[in-house]
Parts: sequence; C-alpha cells; structure tokens
Amino acid sequence: MKAIAIVPGRPRSARLTQIPEPTIDSVPGGRGVLVKVLRVGVDGTDREIYEAEYGKAPEGQDVLVTGHEGLGRVEAVGPAVKEVAPGDLVVATVRRPGKSFYDRLGYPDFTTDGEYYERGINLLNGFLAEKYVEDATYLVKLPAVLRKVGVLMEPFSIVQKGIQQAFEAQRRLHVWRPARAAVMGAGSVGLLATLALRLRGLRVTTFARERKPAPNAALVEELGATYVSVQDASITEVARKEDGYDLIFEATGVSAVAFESMRAVAKNGVLVLASVTGGDHKLEVPADRINLEFVLGNKLMLGTVNASKENFESGVRDLVEAQAMHPGWLDKLLTNPVHGLENYEQLYQALTTAKGVIKAFCVVSED
Ligand code: BGC
Ligand code: ZN
Repeated sequence: MKAIAIVPGRPRSARLTQIPEPTIDSVPGGRGVLVKVLRVGVDGTDREIYEAEYGKAPEGQDVLVTGHEGLGRVEAVGPAVKEVAPGDLVVATVRRPGKSFYDRLGYPDFTTDGEYYERGINLLNGFLAEKYVEDATYLVKLPAVLRKVGVLMEPFSIVQKGIQQAFEAQRRLHVWRPARAAVMGAGSVGLLATLALRLRGLRVTTFARERKPAPNAALVEELGATYVSVQDASITEVARKEDGYDLIFEATGVSAVAFESMRAVAKNGVLVLASVTGGDHKLEVPADRINLEFVLGNKLMLGTVNASKENFESGVRDLVEAQAMHPGWLDKLLTNPVHGLENYEQLYQALTTAKGVIKAFCVVSED
C-alpha cells in the first residue's frame, strides 16, 4: 500500500513509497484495530521533520512514515476489542508508553524518559498511509457529525491538555474564577485555543502578527473574541489596560512571545506555554521585573506537550459543541486540502511556502 516516508536527517526527502499492509494480529492480545485513513493534517512539527530538524525512524529502519494528525474509519477489529467496531470514525493518540514511572501508570504524555515514542514523529511510523493498525487502547471514537472536521482533533487535544492543566493547577487558589484570557498566535492551535476558551465563557483577546482585515482575525471575531495585531499595539500595553489576563495560552512558536507573555499575566493568573521552539534564540529580558511580578502576584507558568486519551475525549465534546454553537466555523480552518497521497508535495509546499494556510491536510480517501 501507499505511504509517505521521509529519511530523518536528510532535508526534504519526503517521497511516496510502498509498504506492506499492516495486519491486526501484529498487536498482541487480540487488541489490534485496522484503520482505513481518511484525512491527515500537517503542522509545524511535520515541517521540522521535513527540514530534517526533528524526527527519528523506527529502530533498525532508515525511513519514517510521517503524519500524526490522522482521522480514519475502522475496517476490522481483533477478538478482544470492545470499544470500537467496523465503520466507526476514529482518531489515534500520538505518544506510546516508554519506561518511566508515568509511562507505566498510563500517562506517556508526562514521560520523564529521555526518548519518547510518537507515531509519525519519533521512532514510530505515522498515519500518512492508506491504512494503519493500532491497539484499541489508543483510539478515540468520533461521532459521524465530525466526519469532515475530525482531522482537527489531534491539534485540538494539545489545546485541551493545556487548558485542563491550567484549571487543575489553579486549584492551588482554593477558588479561581477566570474572566479574561489571552491567546498568543492565530494559527490553527491559537484559533482552536480561542474556540475552547470562548466555549468556557471567558472573554478572549487573541494576539497575532497580521493586521486586520485578515481571515484569521475574522475567525477570531466570529467567536466573539477580540483580535489584536501586534503591529498595532504591544501585548504588554494591551494587557496593562486589562489588568492582565487570568489565563494565557501561548502558541506562536516564538520564544520571545513566551517571555513577553510573562508580563501580561494577571495576579494569581496562569501562563500556559505550548510552543515547541527548536531554535537557539537569545533574548535580553527585564529579569528583575518579571521575577518580582511573578512573586508578588502569585503567578504560575506551566509547560505542556502532547495529550492523553482524556484530552482527546474532552476535545470531541468541544468539537461537537462548536459545530452547534458556531456552525461552519471549524470547516473554515480547513484551508488547504490535498487530494491523494501522491500529491504529498503540495502538503509540504503549504507548510513551507504558501500564504494564508490555517490547516493543510491530505484527503487520503473519500471513504
Ligand atoms: C504533536 C504532539 C507532540 C509534539 C512533540 C506536536 O506537533 O502534536 O503530539 O507531542 O509535537 O513531538
Ligand atoms: Zn502536531
């Protein structure tokens, strides 16, 4: 069957390849599920893998099948699978257990291992193929109403984990009633974070580079949130007028913005850092000020990566709610469909050079 593979360490080496069709008995205990791939989204991590800045092939192999944002339909299940059945729409989580205490408890998204196993990213093949096989434990079922937009589920799970972590951590305050939130970045993750926070009833300001009018700004405003271009006003200035934000979700991919965000947190507030910044940028910061404000304001900053099955499940509920509250909004994020695995070059073009891309994805099969 067809798959898209890259040679990690060799820039722009993506190619269409033939691999053997996986079988459900490759998963022990009769827990295998054969999934036909419908749609696979790509993001900044895929771009880094494409540019050979990130990613590893499975042990003993030279190539990695990429793609970690996959939506599929169950074709067959092993004898010990109860949770899904043929015909179900499913999304797989990305990380698989390693060896650490957290992995053994079933929380690989909190692994403390040096090396981690992620499908389509690190040491495990991904979903940019006609089919894949997965242990039923790592699959999340989606209702049929999410057939078109379910490809947004994996990036949304990242947002869900960040917000859930923030609320969990804020239990330190005994009572926390967040009212004002900020989202840094209006890419796919920033827009999805704006959505999730609006669904929770917060007043949201989303900061991004581009000036209005811009499609991303319109999408923010459709949710009843405020869009601010950082070319018109600085984050610190706007934040000061609002007495800071109770919750900030940082998703720009730029570490300088993470540091600027530290100045925008309200007293007792929380800053969630979710950008994976692979570079080596240096920055001069008002260190005494930032430290003082954090100490005197009981502020909190937390990092978050990956997501658990629970985060996917809360994401499914939010996506269904979003379809009801803001019909058609999620569809507008799906800006760049690429039809067929053989047109994979268009996917990478959308990631590297195209303008106005919110989510590029491959339509692997229409069903
Ligand atoms: C993926 C996460 C993953 C992270 C680090 C992100 O693009 O969505 O699931 O943990 O990259 O590899
Ligand atoms: Zn990702």
